[in-house]
Amino acid sequence: MKTVIVGGVAGGMSAATRLRRLDETAEIVVLERGPYASYANCGLPYHVGGVIRDRAALLLQTPGSLAARFRLDVRVGHEVTGIDPENRIVTVLELATGDERRETYDELVLAVGASARTAADGDGIPTRTLRTVEDVDAIGALIDAAAEPASALVIGGGFIGLEAVENLVRRGIRTTLVQRGAHVLSPLDPEMAAPIEAELRRRGVDVRTSATVERIEHGEAVLADGGRVRADFIVDAAGVVPNVHLARLAGARLGPTGGIAVDTRGRTSVPHISAVGDGVEKVDALSGEESLVTMAGLANRHGRSVADVIAGRDEHNAPALGTAIVEVFDLVAAKTGWSERQLLAAQRPHRVIHTHPASHATYYPGARDMSMKLLVDPATDAILGAQIVGGDGVDKRIDVLAVAMAGGITASALARLELAYAPQFGSAKDPVNQLGYVAENLRTGTTRAIQWHELDAAMDAGAVLLDVRSPAEHAAGAIPGSVNISVDELRDRLAEIPDGPVVVHCAVGQRGHTAARILSQRGFDVVNLDGGYRTWTAGEASRDRMPQPARAAA
Ligand code: FAD
Repeated sequence: MKTVIVGGVAGGMSAATRLRRLDETAEIVVLERGPYASYANCGLPYHVGGVIRDRAALLLQTPGSLAARFRLDVRVGHEVTGIDPENRIVTVLELATGDERRETYDELVLAVGASARTAADGDGIPTRTLRTVEDVDAIGALIDAAAEPASALVIGGGFIGLEAVENLVRRGIRTTLVQRGAHVLSPLDPEMAAPIEAELRRRGVDVRTSATVERIEHGEAVLADGGRVRADFIVDAAGVVPNVHLARLAGARLGPTGGIAVDTRGRTSVPHISAVGDGVEKVDALSGEESLVTMAGLANRHGRSVADVIAGRDEHNAPALGTAIVEVFDLVAAKTGWSERQLLAAQRPHRVIHTHPASHATYYPGARDMSMKLLVDPATDAILGAQIVGGDGVDKRIDVLAVAMAGGITASALARLELAYAPQFGSAKDPVNQLGYVAENLRTGTTRAIQWHELDAAMDAGAVLLDVRSPAEHAAGAIPGSVNISVDELRDRLAEIPDGPVVVHCAVGQRGHTAARILSQRGFDVVNLDGGYRTWTAGEASRDRMPQPARAAA
């Protein structure tokens, strides 16, 4: 049995090594057009910034080491240029010599990844994408060649664009970020992305949102809004498109997203040809529809599982949640599942919860604030998505929430998860448990909440806004029109509250909940401002970026 794998990095190499572990007798050929196999593409931006100093650390394996341990026949510098699926033959071009050969296969795996979708034509200012070791070498040379003080333009405020920005700033380069969307990190909702943008600006990055590069003129990038950016070089991180050329040549079906269509076992529509990784459509866990999720975890996992299928095992891929994380200077942002923007676009009913817990017990040194957003199906209590921005501990909370989603644990049931606790790691009521408490209170009607963007309408309709923080907190910054009675005095000052509906708020929503309980048990018509002053502030800072159409939240 001979398996030929095209593409020798994340998905391809996972398939090759797993197949060897399952079958000592298999013939396994890996054809990689680049000069390196099995390199750490996720580490590339950090070599630019000097965090990963040793370039060799990015090169995880060589054809020699892969042959020694796994008896793999890995050929770098070999590009597959054609497929004859009838006769099960691929055409291979050896790039160094120009020689073309034919390679037979019993099973073929396409693990050819995605290509950069470039936004700048590179005419006038040296421009590189950030996808390969060669790109990183070239960016390093551009940095070295730039006159002091060097300046760079990064196009694209997604995960790779932000990593590029951070690492260029690390190298002392004055950096401008141009992002087509209304805010950076478009998988996040605007009020969650706001602190990331603030962090970028705090670090001196010139952030231009709702902006595109129209042309390059006299060494400057001219933006569609007329703005001009001078830069010694451009890093183009505008996004990726799946590599489908070979699948097309083989006659394999492409899906509605433009990626290669595969079944849950990674098989394309052409017999004996499978496909994995960034080139392939995934099944979205919420909608069951096709989606493009270009993440390393899925590429590796699907590479492994396609090897299982080839080895005769009954293996099926799970749908994709799109779990992702990125560090931007001192902040970490992570998400899983759908955003509120996606839910609104799909007109899917949802309940929103914002919390702002500490990363661990506040009495233990080093606790950091985090902001969490949970999206819940109001009918079934299912978790639809989560976003977290903070520092320490964001990674483990998003992973717990991703596991909860995958396992069908409801939002209220988060309250009952038994999570590891000591003061330096979390709280006895972990932030994930706290999300569950809020979800349960909302589900059972123990408390009612409104969102920051619903406050104006509530006040226009006659609601009183009651700030239950301390007078000092109120004096330091307050929502216009709010009346301050601290929660500790509330029971004694009920007579001061005018008749009619009441919105209570505190800093993050917790004292507001206590106040709402006090008032509702005394007959007041009361709702709590979800996420408190902190969410309101972040929301107001991004009000013009609110998703349209009109909101349908439950
Ligand atoms: P790749 O790993 O890109 O491998 C495809 C290979 O196929 C390429 O080496 C290419 O040369 C080869 N190839 C293509 N066509 C041919 C052909 N015709 N013949 C021979 N070979 C061919 N994901 C995360 O989850 N977390 C991260 O932190 C993260 N950071 C990233 C940072 C950067 C800078 C980049 C570029 C990506 C990052 N990713 C991250 C995404 C992750 O790297 C990809 O999702 C993953 O590598 C996809 O695996 P793949 O096997 O589909 O494609």
